[in-house]
Formats: sequence, C-alpha cells, structure tokens
Amino acid sequence: MAEPLSQDATTTLKALLTGSDPVSSALRAQIPHTRVESRCGCGCATVDLVVDRAAAQPAPAHGNPAADAWYSVPEDAGVMIFTEDGYLSLLEIYSASSEPITAWPDPRFVER
Ligand SMILES: [Zn+2]
Repeated sequence: MAEPLSQDATTTLKALLTGSDPVSSALRAQIPHTRVESRCGCGCATVDLVVDRAAAQPAPAHGNPAADAWYSVPEDAGVMIFTEDGYLSLLEIYSASSEPITAWPDPRFVER
C-alpha cells in the first residue's frame, strides 16, 4: 500500500538533489510523483519509494547511490538515494551507532 511521501522525506530528497546536472534535475522532478511503497523493518526512517512512471521521466544513466551525504547532526549518520531504471527507489538512512534513526534529521545538517 503506497502512502504519500512525508514532508521530512521530501525535504531530505530535495537537500540531496540540489545539482543542476541532468540526473539531479530529473530525480528532483520525480519527487511530486513519488510515494512510499514500504518501510524498513528495523524501525529506522528508511523508505522504499515508487514513482508514477507515467508522470515522470527517468533520469539519464548514473551510478548508485545516485546521491549520498553525511549529517553533521546526528554524528555518524548518513543518507543515500538509490534508483532503479532511472527512478527513485530507496531513501536510506544509516548510522554507525547501534540504535536505528527513527526520524529524518533536519536537512540543514546534510554535509555534502
Ligand atoms: Zn532500518
């Protein structure tokens, strides 16, 4: 059951996809057409994404993760965006600590 992208996940995607390059631009244009397909079982904020492919163009060929960054706060936490066939497919948060991060940190703390 797909559900709408949360505001926090949306701002996190936008904070990571700031480039004017064709890949960032195409992925950014997919955000309004993206929904959450499922969540990570461990309780962290990671979400599996599904894009309405009829409504948005795929990004040109690129590597995976399509974008990644560390946070300055909280420490030892990072975020990655993965794609499938040029479409957003996963927004993953990870941490070096053993506790899962259950909410998206403030995107102001993304370090690129
Ligand atoms: Zn998890």
